[in-house]
Amino acid sequence: MRDQLGRPLQDLRISITDRCNFRCTYCMPAHHQVFLSKDDLLTFEEITRLAQILVELGIQKIRLTGGEPLLRAGIENLVEKLVQIEGLHDLAMITNGYLLPRKAQALKAAGLHRLTISLDSLDNAVFRHMNGGLANVEQVLAGIAAAEQAGFAPLKINVVVQRGVNDHTLVNLAHYFKERGHILRFIEYMDAGTLNNWRMESVVPAHEILARIDAVLPLEPVEASYLGEVATRYRYRDGSGEIGVIASVTQPFCGNCTRLRLSANGQLYTCLFAKVGLNLRGLLRSGISDDKLKAHLAKHWQQRTDRYSELRTAQPTQEKIEMHYIGG
Ligand code: SAM
Ligand code: SF4
Ligand code: SF4
Repeated sequence: MRDQLGRPLQDLRISITDRCNFRCTYCMPAHHQVFLSKDDLLTFEEITRLAQILVELGIQKIRLTGGEPLLRAGIENLVEKLVQIEGLHDLAMITNGYLLPRKAQALKAAGLHRLTISLDSLDNAVFRHMNGGLANVEQVLAGIAAAEQAGFAPLKINVVVQRGVNDHTLVNLAHYFKERGHILRFIEYMDAGTLNNWRMESVVPAHEILARIDAVLPLEPVEASYLGEVATRYRYRDGSGEIGVIASVTQPFCGNCTRLRLSANGQLYTCLFAKVGLNLRGLLRSGISDDKLKAHLAKHWQQRTDRYSELRTAQPTQEKIEMHYIGG
């Protein structure tokens, strides 16, 4: 099934809560206090039903996100349901890592395939500044250790790069995770949502990130392994692992964007920067049949024309959904 620009439907990100135990300045600043109520959230049964139908329409990979997905009670029960969907090849989760010492074993036992953990710096003052003063580096490292022990290695470690904030600590991160065999992914700071006061001057372009690492730890490019891969991959020339850069701002990849996003309250978005979504919660709770729901979903993808990042300079002030709500 293809959209208007010929892109197949392949992956789905499901945000399961808009709440978070961090307040990263680039995502959900400290003054943000309005959250969805429990009744607003899709239930695990509703999420599983939608996922099942979307897999029938072509989805092969699902990533659970948030807010902070580990704050949703019984998350391992959702994992257990989703991994049983026939035709789903990959079930992953992205987390800030804080609750992994309590949750990693249960996630592994439930069948989760892969974990990505976000950690923006190993410098504690820098990290605390970025997460709203709510966590120390040691706590996320304990989460990473718990994930390793549960059998999730190698992990992906996401780093949002902001000029003048954490960009002086990138090489240190590269040294640290290279030795431990985890894959760092440096993400250009994006103009997601409206709360973070994004400015182009704060973006460190991917080519500059790479040049800084390459100057100390020489790199060479790796071929993309599948259509829709958002990270451009590089390996260390000494053969000791790889890193990725996600250049959504300076080198947009809308042409290969095969992704749908489901928010915690059941809105379906065809772009991270969409203004409106398809109200699936309303449809689900209206008693709609699977066949009709499938037809709605198929039509929604087939009508898709989004390519915000390619058009960004022409429309920088568009209204957008917040990152903690759509899940990155
Ligand atoms: N709470 C989890 C976490 O932080 O890993 C999952 C949700 S978070 C919204 C998903 C990813 O989006 C994280 O890696 C986060 O760093 C990234 N992110 C949030 N705001 C961003 C922004 N403005 N630009 C680039 N990445 C961003
Ligand atoms: Fe929370 Fe993740 Fe957003 Fe940080 S990036 S505020 S950890 S949802
Ligand atoms: Fe996909 Fe929208 Fe990002 Fe382009 S801007 S890559 S269409 S999510």
